This record gives sequence, C-alpha cells and structure tokens, in this order.
Amino acid sequence: MAVIKVHDKEFETYLSSESIEKRVEEIAAALNKEYSGKQPLFISILNGAFMFTADLFRHLTIDAELCFIKLASYKGMKSTGKITTSIGLEEDIFGKDIIILEDIVDTGKTLHGFLPKLFHQQPNSLKIVTLLHKPEATEYPHQLDYIGFAIPNKFVIGYGLDYDGLGRNLKEIYQLK
Ligand code: 5GP
Repeated sequence: MAVIKVHDKEFETYLSSESIEKRVEEIAAALNKEYSGKQPLFISILNGAFMFTADLFRHLTIDAELCFIKLASYKGMKSTGKITTSIGLEEDIFGKDIIILEDIVDTGKTLHGFLPKLFHQQPNSLKIVTLLHKPEATEYPHQLDYIGFAIPNKFVIGYGLDYDGLGRNLKEIYQLK
C-alpha cells in the first residue's frame, strides 16, 4: 500500500484507479439506460467533481448537456458550515431532467443549501450522482440515486479531491492515515 505525504499529513491508497474507472463506467452505463431518449442536463459541482465528471462523460452515449457550478463549505479538513457560491447556475432548468454530479457527499450540507434553489426552478426531474458517500457523517439526509462508493468517515484526497489545494491530480483515492 502506497503512503504519500501532502502538506503535513500522510495518506494511504484506498481506491485504485482501476476500481474507480470500473465503477464510473458502471454508473455511466446505468445512466445511459435510465436516460435513453432523454436529454438530461448534468450539473457538476466544482472543484472536486471535475475529474469524475470528465471520466463519466466520456462513457455517456445519450445526448446530454453539462454545466459547472462552484459551491463550497470546506476549508482544509473541516466543513465551515457556510455555503458560498462563486460560480452560479446560468442555465434555465425549468422542465429539464437534472443530474447533479458530486465528488463526495459528507454531511449533506452543501446539497441542503443548494437543492432548494434548483427545485424552485421546477425541473422535470432531479437525481443525484455522487462518486463517494460517507454515510456515517450524514447530518442532512438526501436521496442519493447513484453512489460510486460508500466510504468510512475519514478524510480522503485524490481523483479531484484536495487537501488544502493539493492532491487533486492523484489517479487513486487516498485516505488519511
Ligand atoms: P458536505 O456539504 O456534504 O458536508 O460536503 C461536501 C463537500 O465537502 C464535498 O463536495 C467536498 O468538497 C468536501 N469534502 C467532504 N468530505 C471530504 C473529504 O473526505 N475529502 C475532501 N478532499 N473533501 C471533502
């Protein structure tokens, strides 16, 4: 098992790039099936979901639109509890089939702050796809329609996820040692 150091902390390999790739393909296949004949709009939440989004998109065979928004409640390893939006949603989502793409759902606070704004615009449907989910950390429960991996309540980095700005480029997912 590989151990790496990022800033002041040590992390060890938790999910291999192969297992992530396989799971991403499975999720894409399920979405291709579920949304066959439709044209959903994916809303990807930056920064963390960029890599997951790019890999998932490569495996979509349906017509699909994509936009990015930026929300954050995290600084370092802790959620600050305050959701800030620095890139908002410009698309009109009325009547559309919306699929939210998240890197990780932890407490659920980010979605809790953001979902009402979406429902207010009356999409036709709304589903949530998250690569990672920490069930033990849930404070705000949401229906998560597709979960890549349910993981323990430990801080992770890699595959888009950072620790204080670093680690996003790692192909694997690493867990705090
Ligand atoms: P929530 O609002 O559900 O508590 O947290 C969602 C956001 O917090 C994620 O999109 C992600 O940016 C950040 N986050 C939560 N857990 C982790 C983690 O273990 N590692 C990293 N790097 N970010 C996390």
